[in-house]
Amino acid sequence: MDREIYDEDHEAFRDVVKEFIKRYATNEKREQWDADGEIDRATMLAAGEAGIIGLSVPEEFGGAGMLQDYRFRAIVLEETIQSGNGSLAGAFGIQDDLAVPYLVHMGTDAQKQKWLPKMATGEVLGALAMTEPGAGSDLRGIKTTAKKVDGGYLVNGAKTFISSGKTADVVVTFVKTGEGNRPDAFSLVLIEDGMEGFDHGKKLNKVGFHGWDTAELSFTDVFVPEENLIGGVEGKGFIQLMMNLPLERLSIGVAAAAAGEAALKWTLDYTLSRDAFGSRSRTSRTPGSRWPTWRPRST
Ligand SMILES: Cc1cc2nc3c(=O)[nH]c(=O)nc-3n(C[C@H](O)[C@H](O)[C@H](O)COP(=O)(O)OP(=O)(O)OC[C@H]3O[C@@H](n4cnc5c(N)ncnc54)[C@H](O)[C@@H]3O)c2cc1C
Repeated sequence: MDREIYDEDHEAFRDVVKEFIKRYATNEKREQWDADGEIDRATMLAAGEAGIIGLSVPEEFGGAGMLQDYRFRAIVLEETIQSGNGSLAGAFGIQDDLAVPYLVHMGTDAQKQKWLPKMATGEVLGALAMTEPGAGSDLRGIKTTAKKVDGGYLVNGAKTFISSGKTADVVVTFVKTGEGNRPDAFSLVLIEDGMEGFDHGKKLNKVGFHGWDTAELSFTDVFVPEENLIGGVEGKGFIQLMMNLPLERLSIGVAAAAAGEAALKWTLDYTLSRDAFGSRSRTSRTPGSRWPTWRPRST
């Protein structure tokens, strides 16, 4: 990552993140997260305390109020990923890039008051549930319905591949509130841990990020009160997703660049430091480049 985009405040924040990782993301902890398939809540609470999650929560709700400056989030991504803590990066990202923004940008005042302070501290963890067993890229194919009843909605259906779905206390859930598949047939509702008929399902095994949970969720006649409709408006779910998903894409881009840089560095560190065939590879450095250039050993 081009470090010139960061100023002194960012670099001071980077030190906080590095210190947090040194203290909390020890090898033992990482092994435990991988074995458990999730990040323990104490670590998430410590991240809240250190101001590493809840970055976009406005200060009036107890957050860091860094909504306008994504570079702070980029630093969290860089430092977690480049220290080999992809699962931690993912868990922080779901909270800050996928869950919190729906409340910050689109929540009603009551929703902000209720959820944001606890999301800033890590007491409440969020997730975003769109994908279903039969609908991924084409989200208009979802089957999870929210039928209007007195005082709220009855939600029925299932979601899959939901990151942080097992550990989440509140899930921003994409549901069908209307007929057909026009954009205004969909809404976002907050489904809370403990609501009758809501099951976090089983954790899914993934190829990587073993320490970060991914789950299948199911909803059987879950009563969701009207006040849990995001923004208090029905039929805006599609637009609300479209407004926020670019932020998720940005976080994936930053994470991928950080991971690529780390992979290159680790590869160079290894290949340039090992002895093979009786000697070490020789290197030269192109002026202005941070990376050495590999030259084959002359025979
Ligand atoms: C690790 C992990 C975490 C995830 N976390 C979440 C989460 O937190 N919340 C959530 O809601 N979802 C999550 N997902 C689901 C993810 O968003 C979906 O996997 C994604 O939307 C793709 O849907 P799909 O898997 O059904 O693939 P499909 O939609 O079946 O697509 C399969 C392939 O076909 C291509 N394709 C699809 N339609 C077309 C077309 N019309 N023309 C050409 N090519 C096409 C796609 O690009 C893709 O390559 C997660 C997935 C993974 C793997």
